[in-house]
Amino acid sequence: FVEIRNAAKSFGSLQVLRDINLKVERGQIVAIIGPSGSGKSTLLRAINELDPLSSGEIWLEGVQINKKLPHRQYERHVNQVRQDIGMVFQHFNLFPHLTVRENITLAPKLLKGMSAGEANALAEQQLAKVGLMEKIDAYPSQLSGGQKQRVAIARALAMKPKVMLFDEATSALDPELVEEVNLVMKQLAEEHMTMIIVTHEMGFAESVCDRVLFMDGGVVVEEGPPEVIFRNPENERTRAFLRKHL
Ligand code: ATP
Ligand code: MG
Repeated sequence: FVEIRNAAKSFGSLQVLRDINLKVERGQIVAIIGPSGSGKSTLLRAINELDPLSSGEIWLEGVQINKKLPHRQYERHVNQVRQDIGMVFQHFNLFPHLTVRENITLAPKLLKGMSAGEANALAEQQLAKVGLMEKIDAYPSQLSGGQKQRVAIARALAMKPKVMLFDEATSALDPELVEEVNLVMKQLAEEHMTMIIVTHEMGFAESVCDRVLFMDGGVVVEEGPPEVIFRNPENERTRAFLRKHL
């Protein structure tokens, strides 16, 4: 469903990803863990072409995302494939000058040509899902961090993505706000949304993910089901990392 083949990425002379291979089946939930600087964000950002790979291929449902195309065609292609990929970042990235409703309806209206009425209904539906209907006409500055992050998730879901990418969605939140966001992600897991989740919350990864990848130094050092990676990892680097983070 999502497939990454021989992915490599350099920033100048700094190689941050080397020969990454990853297959995610439809409905699967994959966690990516690893130390700071190991390339987790770079890999996620490569999936939707925010940080294109230096070499390798990324596929989503039979379509190559990082196709080499002439500039104009490439732009069109990327705008198209990005509609299928929802992304939620550590910092909420809501448009501060737009209300919650406007944040959510903007892309469906602009990119999918939805009417205001349709987009509104969709915004209400997605907000109800994350439990924030009462905030529909609030501005981001009037929301808590956890609420902002739930709006960011609702906004991504409004595009009906095929896959959701989360990059440390809860790590900028006060501890008491983490759970409300985790609950929304768990709910998505129950609905079999395909998800790739970069997280430093090992307990959360263990409870929701089907598979865990441990990255270090730009490579996937070890991968497997959570019960193996967290309980009985083979690699010494994985063990050392988990000793510090479990
Ligand atoms: P963290 O857990 O701290 O978020 P990470 O695993 O997400 O770390 P990345 O952000 O992917 O790590 O960074 C991997 C490496 O790439 C780091 O050495 C970082 O300094 C470098 N890097 C990331 N983005 C750029 C960039 N735009 N230009 C140059 N180097 C970059
Ligand atoms: Mg990161």
